Amino acid sequence: MKYDVAVVGAGPVGSVAARYAALYGAKVALFEEHATVGSPVQCAGLLSVRAMDECGISTNDSSVINSVRGAFVHSPEGTCLPVNGGHTRAFVVSRKMFDRKLASMATSEGVDIFLNSKVVAINNNSGFKSLHVQRAGKPEVIEASVVIGADGVRHGVASMVGLPAPSRIMSGIQFEVQMQSIRQDFVELFVGTVRLVFLHG
Ligand SMILES: Cc1cc2nc3c(=O)[nH]c(=O)nc-3n(C[C@H](O)[C@H](O)[C@H](O)COP(=O)(O)OP(=O)(O)OC[C@H]3O[C@@H](n4cnc5c(N)ncnc54)[C@H](O)[C@@H]3O)c2cc1C
Repeated sequence: MKYDVAVVGAGPVGSVAARYAALYGAKVALFEEHATVGSPVQCAGLLSVRAMDECGISTNDSSVINSVRGAFVHSPEGTCLPVNGGHTRAFVVSRKMFDRKLASMATSEGVDIFLNSKVVAINNNSGFKSLHVQRAGKPEVIEASVVIGADGVRHGVASMVGLPAPSRIMSGIQFEVQMQSIRQDFVELFVGTVRLVFLHG
């Protein structure tokens, strides 16, 4: 199989890049190592108005859970500073549904999406790249003129083609907890250092 553009990773970046490449007339393949797009979720789903706009997702889309216009900023001493943005500043989305919507927008433009397909190596041949893909556990080779590495923080594609690793990676931990919110259109930010103790068993 031969493509103009191969995109590795069907997260938001990969699906949007694939859609735009297809919109400009390229034959595009989008590879995702997982069996479905959008999981596992590694995101709290808070997106700026600009990010929504750049992704081309309507604010009425079913992936949108809430809109946010302000924040309660909690200090380590327990004081709380309300910051009212006055109008909608951000949206809370279901990342699973958001990612799936973006992937379906890409396929609507003619992008071929390959699930269960992990790109494991990329060779540079004269004029095109050979992508070695483990597709449902079986090896395949797909050729493309251009490869877009949209494989997220693990930057595997960059390593495969000899590009440097990011100079700095910020780590995060996510928990889902139940809470009573004071205002649904405000997020709560807790600044400072928190010592986490993990209890086993
Ligand atoms: C705990 C946490 C909370 C966060 N909360 C927010 C938030 O509230 N708001 C926000 O804007 N951002 C948040 N982020 C950051 C956000 O998740 C990322 O910025 C965003 O997902 C990056 O999108 P992406 O498309 O570049 O990569 P990803 O979403 O990581 O997508 C990369 C895709 O590539 C696939 N892939 C990787 N390697 C291969 C391969 N070799 N072959 C095939 N497929 C491959 C992966 O399976 C994945 O589907 C959070 C991150 C974390 C860790």
